[in-house]
Amino acid sequence: MTSPTAAPTPATRIAPARAARPQITLQVVRREQLSAHLVRIVLSGDEFDDFVTNDSTDKYVKIYFTKPELGLTAPFDLTELRQTLAPDDLPVTRTYTVRAVDAEARTLTIDFVVHGDTGLAGPWANAAQPGDLLTLSAPGGGYAPDPASDWHLFAGDQSALPAIASALAALPGTASGLAFIQVPDASEVLPLEAPPAVQIRWLFGDDPAILVREVDAATWLPGRPQIFAHGERSAMKGLREVFAGRGVHRSELSLSGYWALGRTEDRFQAEKREPVGVILPVS
Ligand SMILES: Cc1cc2nc3c(=O)[nH]c(=O)nc-3n(C[C@H](O)[C@H](O)[C@H](O)COP(=O)(O)OP(=O)(O)OC[C@H]3O[C@@H](n4cnc5c(N)ncnc54)[C@H](O)[C@@H]3O)c2cc1C
Repeated sequence: MTSPTAAPTPATRIAPARAARPQITLQVVRREQLSAHLVRIVLSGDEFDDFVTNDSTDKYVKIYFTKPELGLTAPFDLTELRQTLAPDDLPVTRTYTVRAVDAEARTLTIDFVVHGDTGLAGPWANAAQPGDLLTLSAPGGGYAPDPASDWHLFAGDQSALPAIASALAALPGTASGLAFIQVPDASEVLPLEAPPAVQIRWLFGDDPAILVREVDAATWLPGRPQIFAHGERSAMKGLREVFAGRGVHRSELSLSGYWALGRTEDRFQAEKREPVGVILPVS
C-alpha cells in the first residue's frame, strides 16, 4: 500500500475504461486557505457533467491516490488492477464530504483538514495548485435534515465541519437546535449560515473528549432531536454512550467515525470490521 509519507499524486486520465463505481477526474480551479488548518479546494472540468449528485447534505466521495512512479491512469478498475499489481501498489482512497456543488459554475468544493505532514489527502490539499488533477468516485451519503424534527443536534470536529455547515445551511428558517463544533483554537472559527434559533457552540482543543463532555453537559431543547454526529472515532464512541443515556433511538441518529487518531484511513476502515473499530448502534 502507498506509504502515508510517500509523495502521492492524483492520477492523470488518459482513456475511459469501465469501472465498478463511476469515477470522474477534475482539475483544481483554486485553493483557498479558510483557516490555518482548513483548505478549500474548488474543482471543475469537462467531467463535472458526469457527477451525479444526491440530496444528502453529508454527501461524500472517495478520492483516489496512486504511486506516481506506476503511471496509473484514471478511471481505475480495481478488480483488474488487483490481478496485476502488488497490494502495496493499488490506488488508495480517502473519503471527503462534498461541501458544495455549483451547477451553474460547474464546480465541486471540498474542504480538507490539514493535519500535518502525514497522510495523503491532507498534504495533497495543502500543496494543491490550479491545474492539478483529482479523481473521485460518485457520491454516497446518508443524512439530510428532517424539517419535521422537533430540533436538530450537530456534533463534530473539523473533519465534520463541511457536512455540518451544509446541513445548517439546508435547515428551514424556523428550525431550532444546537451545533457543537470542535476546532483546534478560536482562529479556526468560520462564519456559518444557520437559522437564528440554532445555537452554534465552538469548542477549542485537540482532545476528542472535549466534544463528548460538552454535548453531555448541555441542556437539551424540548422534544426529540434529529442528531448528526461525526468525527474522531473515540469521540463518536463517547457520544454514542451519551445519546444512549438520553434515550435516543437509532432512527434519530446519524453517527460514525470519520477518522481515528494514529490510524490511516486504510487502517481505520479495516478496523471497522474488528471490535476496536465498531461503534455500536443505539437501539
Ligand atoms: C464520510 C466521511 C466524510 C469525511 N469528510 C471529510 C471532510 O470533508 N474534510 C476532512 O478534512 N476530512 C473528512 N473526512 C475524514 C478524512 O477522510 C480522514 O481525516 C482521512 O484519514 C484523511 O486522510 P489523510 O490521507 O490526510 O490521512 P491518513 O493517511 O488517513 O492518516 C494519517 C495520520 O493523520 C491522522 N489524521 C487523519 N485525519 C485527521 C484529522 N482530521 N485531524 C487530525 N489528524 C488526522 C491519522 O490519525 C493518521 O495518524 C471524512 C471521512 C468520512 C468517512
